[in-house]
Amino acid sequence: METPLQPIAVVTSDAHLAHDGLTEIMGGRPIPCFERPERITAIESALSAAGAVRFAHPTEHGMGPITALHDSQLLDLLEHAWTDAVATGDTDGDRPLIPDTFLVGPYAAGGYAGTGTARPARLGAHCLDTATPIVAGTYAAALAAVDVALTAADLVTAGAPAAYALCRPPGHHASREMYGGYCFFNNAAIVAEQLVRDGASRVAILDLDYHHGNGTQQLFWERGEVLYVSLHADPARAFPYFSGHADEMGAGPGAGATRNFPLPAGTNVDDYATALADACELVSGFGADAPLVVSLGFDTYAGDPIGDFAIETGDYVRIGGLVRGLGRQVIVIQEGGYALDAIGANAVAFLQGLTGRH
Ligand SMILES: [Zn+2]
Repeated sequence: METPLQPIAVVTSDAHLAHDGLTEIMGGRPIPCFERPERITAIESALSAAGAVRFAHPTEHGMGPITALHDSQLLDLLEHAWTDAVATGDTDGDRPLIPDTFLVGPYAAGGYAGTGTARPARLGAHCLDTATPIVAGTYAAALAAVDVALTAADLVTAGAPAAYALCRPPGHHASREMYGGYCFFNNAAIVAEQLVRDGASRVAILDLDYHHGNGTQQLFWERGEVLYVSLHADPARAFPYFSGHADEMGAGPGAGATRNFPLPAGTNVDDYATALADACELVSGFGADAPLVVSLGFDTYAGDPIGDFAIETGDYVRIGGLVRGLGRQVIVIQEGGYALDAIGANAVAFLQGLTGRH
């Protein structure tokens, strides 16, 4: 019997529609972006059809929550790189900004001062990859995604058992000073940091995206009051390649507060549920005194074009149910998921599990 979808607030904004990067470079080829506006509109349509969903608009939270975590150079570039490129003719307006020169280590003689070069040419000092184009609407969309996440957090801290932030662009690959992996500001990390700033002594983040959230890991690497637990494709084969191994566990005051579960290709829901049960035990044992933050990606889906797991649509009911089993208030932050024909049904299934009676 189908599990009924219980009422849940879903925070969404149309600002993301203007962030349409058109082209990314993957495997040496320019291809249409996987991270496109239709991802969110497909989820909105499916949730509307499923009913029991109350859509809410975000409220503005200002720059404070963003500057609390992100470097001022990164903010400056994201705000001004596009308009600078238009002003100097470096883009004709149709072509996205994708860096072609990356700062790898301190190769610049005398060190990288950070401001002597035009902003569009400097993007490679703050960018992880060639998959994250900047266009006219990118900065506004990234700001709105943060407000979407923080508004969902507001609803939960005001008493809702759960809220779902339909963030786009996603966030978990964005670190303090670096964007990339389709991400600009780290929506989930900003929510966790805001919970700490509002008085929580311990906050847990559970990352269920197919990819390792290198940005979230970096931001809380030395922070013992924020637990980061991630299930993801083994970085030995999958983006972001350079982080997400099981032996990365944090440092200093944060030693032990980062935990990674790298998973093999072909991971099915039984394998996934076993790892998730272990992850949930860590979350339970951490003793957070704030709602749980979940970074949710549907690129774990069997039909996802950039994933290699074997999780089917109906399986997300079980996965949502395992999160519900923690018995905590939950702030769900949308991360990845690129199978446009299934992402809506996958979201409905997850929420059925998260909100349903078991
Ligand atoms: Zn992902």
